[in-house]
Amino acid sequence: MRMQVPQLFLPDLLYADGRSRRAEGLLVGENGRVLGIGVPESTDRVDLVRLPGKALLPGLANAHSHSFQRLFRGRAEGRASGGETFWTWREQMYRAANFVSPTELFGVARATFLEMICAGITVVGEFHYLHNDRDGTPYADPNTLAREVIRAAESVGIRICLLRTAYLRAGFGLKKHPGQQRFYEECDAYLRNLEDLAGEFKEQGQVSVGVAPHSIRAVPLADLERIAAFAQGRALPMHMHISEQPAENEACIAEYGTTPVELLAAKGLLNKRSTLVHAIHLSEREFEHVAEAGSTICSCPTTERNLGDGIFPADLAAKLGIPVAFGTDSQAQIDILEDARQSEYHLRLAQRERGILDGIHGRPIADRLLHSASGCGYQALGLSGGGLAPGDAADFFTIDLEDIASLGTDEESLAAQVVFGSGRSAIRDVAVAGRFVLKDGRHPLAAEIASRYREVQRRYVSGR
Ligand SMILES: [Zn+2]
Repeated sequence: MRMQVPQLFLPDLLYADGRSRRAEGLLVGENGRVLGIGVPESTDRVDLVRLPGKALLPGLANAHSHSFQRLFRGRAEGRASGGETFWTWREQMYRAANFVSPTELFGVARATFLEMICAGITVVGEFHYLHNDRDGTPYADPNTLAREVIRAAESVGIRICLLRTAYLRAGFGLKKHPGQQRFYEECDAYLRNLEDLAGEFKEQGQVSVGVAPHSIRAVPLADLERIAAFAQGRALPMHMHISEQPAENEACIAEYGTTPVELLAAKGLLNKRSTLVHAIHLSEREFEHVAEAGSTICSCPTTERNLGDGIFPADLAAKLGIPVAFGTDSQAQIDILEDARQSEYHLRLAQRERGILDGIHGRPIADRLLHSASGCGYQALGLSGGGLAPGDAADFFTIDLEDIASLGTDEESLAAQVVFGSGRSAIRDVAVAGRFVLKDGRHPLAAEIASRYREVQRRYVSGR
């Protein structure tokens, strides 16, 4: 149902446009965008939505997700089940990738997206590389699986940017890997399928499409240049895994004689629509290249610590002015606020100091982390939002100020309480484009989504 008059959301505390406010509301137009902040002199001509005892904040952006990986959460932590290294973990991931039918993928993605909504996430960048049937042949519609993921997002009500991924080879000089059968396409076919999907979802409300060469390892340079030109020509966001593991750098040096970011910079493949995912093992000069190009880095601290990848130098990125977004990646945990606080905490442990990210370029630590958790993610996905400034998408979440975890929160402490203290347990409502998707902790489809997920999980565990 379309709203006839602007809505005025009136919480006790509002965090918008980078600062906390008391007794101010968020005015949202019928197009689902923010009209302004404040309280009009008369509330006669607005649909007043009072949110007593709550604080309202910009919706969180999950800029890097592989939704199907939720299927083996809690099943790859021990050493016998792929727990030793990133590379053994990957074998467990192939098992999940090769298991799901299109309908099962829909079921898993819906549960994953619902969990995101419950964590205050209003947009997901789904880095999607499952394309083929289980035996490696393309479906009659090569975008079958991408469409299932999009349909799952629409069903749950989360905004999605489907980052259609090119996975063209196992690696430099390597034979095709049987675990990757569902990923492979030829470059021509990839571009054709991407163009079809991007054309279909152009300017479609809460769905958009982006470009994602998987990694330097999986996409040879000549193809990468074609894919980057495609993204550039259509002004689409382009995401790529970079330097998550030192072995990726070594393989790149063996093939091209230089490291991944040096290669991208030398070929002019970085720009303000590029997002580099992980970017852990970079030299200072490589970070400078990223800054000069205006590219974003998507850091995934909860996954990176789970996989033993290393610590992202968020302090260096901040000093260079690189926008840093966050992603839940492997879904080991779905909690962008946890990603935000861990990006600081990892540095505290490594440097044995506190407040590492505080005050860089004059920005208080909690404001910086909230901006990363929201605005930088929206920007990385090519969307305007994440700040609740006029013109932004009215995507937001609320926290319950009466929740035991958030007692004592006031205007001054709101941002830091949400990032470091109350966290996701206090999240109550989530709205996308000004419409509630989660209300008082409840989603209308939750029971059905959970029961279908359990059914898929049972088949996955029992091997059908
Ligand atoms: Zn990833």
